[in-house]
Amino acid sequence: MSVARESLVVMKFGGTSLEDAKAMERTAAIVASRRKKGLDAAVVVSAMAKVTDQLLAAAAAAGRGDKAGALALSSRLRHRHIDTATDLLTGEHAAGLHPAVHAEFDALDDLLRGIAAVGELTARTNDLVVSFGERLSSRMVAAAFAQRGLEGAHVDARSCIVTDANYGKAAPLEPAIEAKLREIVLPLIEAKKTAVMGGFIGATTEGITTTLGRGGSDYTAALVGGGLHAGAIEIWTDVNGIMTTDPRICPDALRVKTISFEEAAELAYFGAKVLHPATILPAVQKNIPVWVLNSRNAENEGTQITAVAPRCKSPFKSIAAKKKLTIIDIVASRMLMSHGYMKAVFDVFDKYKCVIDMVSTSEVSISLSVDSNQRLPEICEDLSKIADVKMEGNKALICMVGEDIRGHNGIAGQVFSAISHVNVRMISQGASEINMSFMIEEEDVEEAVRSLHKHFFADPDEAIFDVEARVQVESKA
Ligand code: ADP
Ligand code: ASP
Ligand code: MG
Repeated sequence: MSVARESLVVMKFGGTSLEDAKAMERTAAIVASRRKKGLDAAVVVSAMAKVTDQLLAAAAAAGRGDKAGALALSSRLRHRHIDTATDLLTGEHAAGLHPAVHAEFDALDDLLRGIAAVGELTARTNDLVVSFGERLSSRMVAAAFAQRGLEGAHVDARSCIVTDANYGKAAPLEPAIEAKLREIVLPLIEAKKTAVMGGFIGATTEGITTTLGRGGSDYTAALVGGGLHAGAIEIWTDVNGIMTTDPRICPDALRVKTISFEEAAELAYFGAKVLHPATILPAVQKNIPVWVLNSRNAENEGTQITAVAPRCKSPFKSIAAKKKLTIIDIVASRMLMSHGYMKAVFDVFDKYKCVIDMVSTSEVSISLSVDSNQRLPEICEDLSKIADVKMEGNKALICMVGEDIRGHNGIAGQVFSAISHVNVRMISQGASEINMSFMIEEEDVEEAVRSLHKHFFADPDEAIFDVEARVQVESKA
């Protein structure tokens, strides 16, 4: 077991922290502030804001045989990257980067032409197309750092982040990653360089490009932090930290000052986009503190994610919502719940690698909630061989997270009376001691979250929540 590198901070910047040259300047200033403190930095970057969506659209267009559509999207992206590089760099740094950006886009265009010619888009090729986002942003950020005296050194993430071949949601192979990080990234850090690599992307042991799933750059940061035994991991985004709920739904959401790994993981899994669900694990295993910080407001303290949950007067620390879910009701009409029935049901979901979010059972029926996905008709057809099946889409899950739920009597009563006007379809409490979740109609999400937030965060515990943030919002209104 190797020793922690206390002086190493792994800093991850999301797409919104890299949306244009100005945002990249802010990113460079934040990294410079860490270097000035005598810290070593390894930087993980997402693609520029919205680029991943546009690359996916280009891949899909090519897959439909729409070559012109795919190339038009790629051309727009090329201009955006070249314009940003022009604003960001001068002299030899600009001269070095421009041809590299053009070469990447030439390769992307060739790839899109190939996909359009075949008229078929495989998961493997989709990963290759989407990887260009992080490949480009990491090169640009490394060049920007080099020009600003930060000793930026670009690392192709695919040389370090070794994964299995589950395209679209590849699983990292941690021992192999740790070995590669030591071989490739550590010497750069020891030479006082700022290593910059793209998040989200990796490669199989055979070198085939993969991705870790949407939002996966957070995961890369945790893998790099864990693999190099960093002293801290900083996730830089566009909000002041983990908030009491998504500030886009509830503008008076408060910053949570400290939250436990377990609580943060639960929130991420149940829809809080601020962190990728798997991020926390590599950091927890090595006990590395994680901070969520705002690149537009770098002075703010952000949220610290710690091993042990801070005790708090409020039963909940945050409310997450996950949309685009489907409820499947499976009723055992032909045979009552006999031995092996549950297994038969779950085997069907297993066959399609479909993740179940919530389950509730009665004597003859099982209700399950799953992400709405294209395999659902096939899943239902298989299930209908053993039971009567009904599927209902446009559902959402609300998840209330807090270490102190267990200490509060009558909490379920409070939750459901706060949203008594909303139709609740399924409830789960106690499966995890730190969350209480329920399913509602998608269209009721905003209203339900606001009502719950109003009820549970009206009188916040100042030790845990940033109450001043609310005063500012109120005085602005
Ligand atoms: P990045 O590009 O930095 O990865 P994301 O868009 O993935 O950023 O995540 C940040 C967004 O997460 C915020 O803009 C916010 O709208 C959303 N979000 C959802 N739930 C929360 C929450 N509980 N706290 C903070 N942000 C949240
Ligand atoms: N660029 C990828 C995405 O948009 C990964 C990330 O940003 O974390 O999903
Ligand atoms: Mg993200």
